[in-house]
Amino acid sequence: MTHPTVSHIRIDQDRLWSSLQDLGELGAYDDGETGLRGVRRLALTDEDIQGRQLVLGWMENAGLTIRIDQMGNIYARRAGGSDSLPPVMMGSHIDSVGTAGKFDGCLGVLGGLEVIRTLNENDVVTLRPLELAIFTEEEGVRFGTDMLGSAVAAGRLLLEQALEIQDRDGTSVRTELERHGLIGDVQVPITPPYAYLECHIEQGPILAAATRQIGVVQGIQAITWKELHITGRAAHAGATPQTLRRNAGLAAAMITVQLNEMVESGRYGQMLATVGRHDSYPNLINIVPAKVLMTVDMRNPDGDSMRLMESHLDRYLAEVERATGVSIASRTTAKTPPVAFPIRMRELVAKTATNLGFSYMEITSGAGHDAGEIASISPAGMVFIPGLYDGISHNPREYSTPEACADGINVLLQAVVELANHPAVSLEAHTSGSALVL
Ligand SMILES: [Zn+2]
Repeated sequence: MTHPTVSHIRIDQDRLWSSLQDLGELGAYDDGETGLRGVRRLALTDEDIQGRQLVLGWMENAGLTIRIDQMGNIYARRAGGSDSLPPVMMGSHIDSVGTAGKFDGCLGVLGGLEVIRTLNENDVVTLRPLELAIFTEEEGVRFGTDMLGSAVAAGRLLLEQALEIQDRDGTSVRTELERHGLIGDVQVPITPPYAYLECHIEQGPILAAATRQIGVVQGIQAITWKELHITGRAAHAGATPQTLRRNAGLAAAMITVQLNEMVESGRYGQMLATVGRHDSYPNLINIVPAKVLMTVDMRNPDGDSMRLMESHLDRYLAEVERATGVSIASRTTAKTPPVAFPIRMRELVAKTATNLGFSYMEITSGAGHDAGEIASISPAGMVFIPGLYDGISHNPREYSTPEACADGINVLLQAVVELANHPAVSLEAHTSGSALVL
């Protein structure tokens, strides 16, 4: 039951919007492709740290107690009436891809902050404490593994392994955390929160096309990232007969086409595959490519179909080696299973949206999120809001209206307060969510 003094409270739409705009100024750049101002705040760069400092200042002004874990994840805490109870956690990330907008991740963090600011000015004390998390390197663009911080917080990845991961320039996560003084004393894996709720822009076209205001996220599809290092042999483009070539570029092209055909075959369910990076060496017009580094991003809501696709891809790589004479080293850089959020968390979001008069639909997340990691230690859920322009994201055109942002955060506010006022008797943090009484 919603706390009687809270159900009428609404967040401050203008304050939320101006916080989003202010954070979006840090790491801003002029995007030549779109002619817009974009955001480039790669994890643990100076720009990311500037963003953290801005948000940390806001958190302190909101009276929150800041703690940092061994992976640089930030937890800002608002005391509860029974402060020894496990907290209800909100959160997301503020690191970005190289060509980002202002909403991806930032809405979850600044929305959580707006929830706390709203509770503060209405003198609402929740039974359980609230925590607002900022997770390190969610995007995986710099260090190659997405949801890196939350995966370590939840215990799926080992801290020591995560700290040794290097970016393209050979700089490790550990070096960057130390440089910024971000190795905190909260142990990982963290103590599971009572529940976790994250609001995020959809990053796809579904909600807008269906004209729904809120997405109740059922789960997150499986993600596998691979890096393929293809080694052939450089050769003169005019003097080397076809039969003597070991063309790394040809091998890469065959793999790209094969991935597309596998997806279109329908044999692997709702599979998606993307070759987003393709670095050719020496990359000159009259030389047969000696090496290609290519990446493969695969997504599938079904874990079995993903495994089948991966094994068939491995088999095809061996065929390409035989057919072209190249050698291919394949490395899996990220791999997360599909996540199903507990039905009770989904029902809470749906009920809250209805109570607030919003239209909603159930939706599966196409993108990975920190909530998917925290779901392995606590009941977790997500609130999606629609984006404009076909929901484009990871692009400066990413946009959601002030009203849509406020809608999502009002749902977050009411749902979080309801969770935080659950009586202690139903307390049991676990993975299935079945003992969470709503
Ligand atoms: Zn995100």
